[in-house]
Amino acid sequence: MTDPNDPKLKSWVEVAPGSDFPIQNLPFGIFRTRYLAPVAGVAIGNHVVDLVCLHEHGYLDGLGLQPGVFNQRYLNSFFAMGRKKVGAVRTRVSELLRHDNDELRANGPAREIALIPIEEVKMLLPLDIRNYTDFYSSEEHATNVGSMFRDPKNALLPNWKHLPVGYHGRASSIVVSGTDIHRPNGQIKPPDQEAPVFSPTRKLDFELELAFVTCTDTVLGKPVSVREAEDHIVGLVIFNDWSARDIQQWEYVPLGPFLAKNFASTISPWVVTLDALEPFRTAGPVQIPPVLPYLAFEGKRNFDIQLEVQIQPQGSVETTVCRTNFKHMYWNMAQQLAHHTVNGCNIETGDLYASGTISGPAPGSYGSLLELTWNGQKPVPLADGSERKFLEDGDTVIMKAHAERDGVRIGFGECVGKIVKG
Ligand code: MN
Repeated sequence: MTDPNDPKLKSWVEVAPGSDFPIQNLPFGIFRTRYLAPVAGVAIGNHVVDLVCLHEHGYLDGLGLQPGVFNQRYLNSFFAMGRKKVGAVRTRVSELLRHDNDELRANGPAREIALIPIEEVKMLLPLDIRNYTDFYSSEEHATNVGSMFRDPKNALLPNWKHLPVGYHGRASSIVVSGTDIHRPNGQIKPPDQEAPVFSPTRKLDFELELAFVTCTDTVLGKPVSVREAEDHIVGLVIFNDWSARDIQQWEYVPLGPFLAKNFASTISPWVVTLDALEPFRTAGPVQIPPVLPYLAFEGKRNFDIQLEVQIQPQGSVETTVCRTNFKHMYWNMAQQLAHHTVNGCNIETGDLYASGTISGPAPGSYGSLLELTWNGQKPVPLADGSERKFLEDGDTVIMKAHAERDGVRIGFGECVGKIVKG
């Protein structure tokens, strides 16, 4: 059997240079068309492959799939079959789409139904998100925020290098790319006033993150070890953890983020598999002091994924305000999941675990406006001549991510949200 990550693979489906979705990627999503109720699909080039069609035509026979597993509103039932089975489907789809495979290509009627131009589909939220956790795993981001909100000399709190700090977020308000974001109202305490005021946030921000998706249901009381952690992770999406900084600054002590974060988070619609990202493993930062044994890991557990953020004001052009890389993260996903469950907390299929804002070492690599503008002190210039301290109504934020090597680009598509009046 061929390796679906082989850089030499080509598809009979046209894939333009620079496409996020070559045959080596094959991410999973949920889509609908004018004629189709929501079903599971795979992206290739500018097309979506209808998995229900492939399944019903017998192209996925022998993989031990439950009937109807793709004819669903969410990917949960499919992912719950486990990472190996998801990988087997990806490998089989790769075979069917290979330039030298005629099984589907030569079957006109099936091919016509199975392959849908991407502009004819609407991508939907791919997961019934059971739980959402947000980590805080970029040392640069934690240092920047600690410097601004607390004390530059002690920016990192004493626990930060000993455990992957996180909090439980809100799953109900996670939306798919393309959904408008309402500017939230809340309590703000202006620095020159004694008492808080009720107001729309004046410091609306994005947070550039990636989130991993779990594909198992574990038993309460049974931790997931670092060594096993990646068996529970099926793939990743881009995650915009929208944040209201003024609400956050007033509310966050002592229990952390609440209404400053739970009004909305946006994810990209395609789940890029960890299998497709395998060639992009890289070593993370050296962890000093050494971590406790339950967080110790072997091998390369970080991933070299380039990220960028653009802001596009209403009726104007976009400006790239941030470029960074997922490889900078101090804590890796295996450590995050092991820490999350070490107390016996169970995980569920379709949970999202976001990385925390991904900031790099250089100023242009900060993953939030809070950091890019240093809490509004240094506005970011935009291509249309305007500038931003924080987001304005009508602004669209576009996040992109891709890994690239040996001429193969594993992209995530886009994670887009427009700010509208609350
Ligand atoms: Mn966050």
